[in-house]
Amino acid sequence: MAGEIYFDNNATTRVLPEVAEAMLPFFTEHYGNPSSIHRFGSQVGQQIAAARAQVAALIGAADPVEVMFTSCGTEGDNAAIRGMLEARPGKRHIVTTQVEHPAVLGLCQHLEKKGYRVTWLGVDQNGALDLEELRAALTDDTALVSIMWANNETGVLFPVDEIAEIVRAKGIPFHVDAVQAAGKLPIHVKNLPVDLLTISGHKFYAPKGVGALYVRRGITFPPFMIGGHQERNRRAGTENVAAIVGMGLAAEIALGHIAEDSVSVRKLRDRLETLLLESCPDSRVNGDRQNRVANTLNISFRYLEGESILVLLDQQGICASTGSACTAGSAEPSHVLRAMRVPPDWLQGAVRFSLSRFNTEAEVLYVNEKMPAIVKRLNGLSALGRLGNEQRPQNDRGAASGIIGARG
Ligand code: PLP
Repeated sequence: MAGEIYFDNNATTRVLPEVAEAMLPFFTEHYGNPSSIHRFGSQVGQQIAAARAQVAALIGAADPVEVMFTSCGTEGDNAAIRGMLEARPGKRHIVTTQVEHPAVLGLCQHLEKKGYRVTWLGVDQNGALDLEELRAALTDDTALVSIMWANNETGVLFPVDEIAEIVRAKGIPFHVDAVQAAGKLPIHVKNLPVDLLTISGHKFYAPKGVGALYVRRGITFPPFMIGGHQERNRRAGTENVAAIVGMGLAAEIALGHIAEDSVSVRKLRDRLETLLLESCPDSRVNGDRQNRVANTLNISFRYLEGESILVLLDQQGICASTGSACTAGSAEPSHVLRAMRVPPDWLQGAVRFSLSRFNTEAEVLYVNEKMPAIVKRLNGLSALGRLGNEQRPQNDRGAASGIIGARG
């Protein structure tokens, strides 16, 4: 099978050809500044307005002015959380979960060091939240609640509607990181008591470097980026026009594909899952198999090292991931799988396959054809490692290495 087989769509997706084409004129003939008074610039501003309406439709916002363009999902998460803290300066408590993307996790850890109190809600073995724990965590001092919609590593979905009702009843602002949900499932913010919601273009076939933050009308939102008057004074900086136009079109296309993709991509993902569980002994799925986005499979291979599997998959032209891009390259086990109390034998051997509408059954079959030999090869190294480890001091375990270091 020639070319790259791409099963890493939660990391990023390819830009649709029609999206790339729609962007091109904004690098060439339509290069005006949308803030300019002259028509050459202000016509570009109209294209931004059109993209705003397209993005508003994707998330079901009542009014496009509630959509503010950002540079990425990380910026949206930062702007939402920092904005709510600034809007409510007397309040020093944040509620979030242990399984957030580093864009929220890292910021909240930073804020903890700055003196904020953070409640880190745990999850069960399926990756589900305990809503009673959430209820009990909310106090008069809580400045905001920030909880993701779909987990980037496992695909597990949190019940955003139920969470929103609980949080709204206490009058606390609620931010949702919907970066892995947008374009994959229907979102209707106008019917949800959600105050802020982050999305990122490159997860639904738009380019990297553009995102959006939904800010519900009426919410006090001190800007994170301060300077010019762009984005109604909420996000200063000359707009990334081409990327915004691309994101608008990608949003419109995604909206038209959600129903169809959630059936066809799920079918393909489930086929991959069933085949791998059958062909690879000692494999298991991490996370709730029902309550998941359609495209994500997080599967562990017992005793193995996920990164070693990725290297061997890569040699066969297959792109996958161990989970969060930020965890890749580090030997640390995933914080998400640890929070789910995945047993030690299975913790290191997780691989995430995240599909798109461009994957085919032939690709699924190809992965399944290659995987058993990879597992067998690494199992041999791992067994050697385990044998070696028995003669080693405890703190040296796992040093007997395979490709990167098969774990014992
Ligand atoms: N939140 C989640 C759940 C994500 O999966 C990601 C990226 O993978 C982000 C936030 C950050 O988005 P970006 O890469 O656009 O900064």
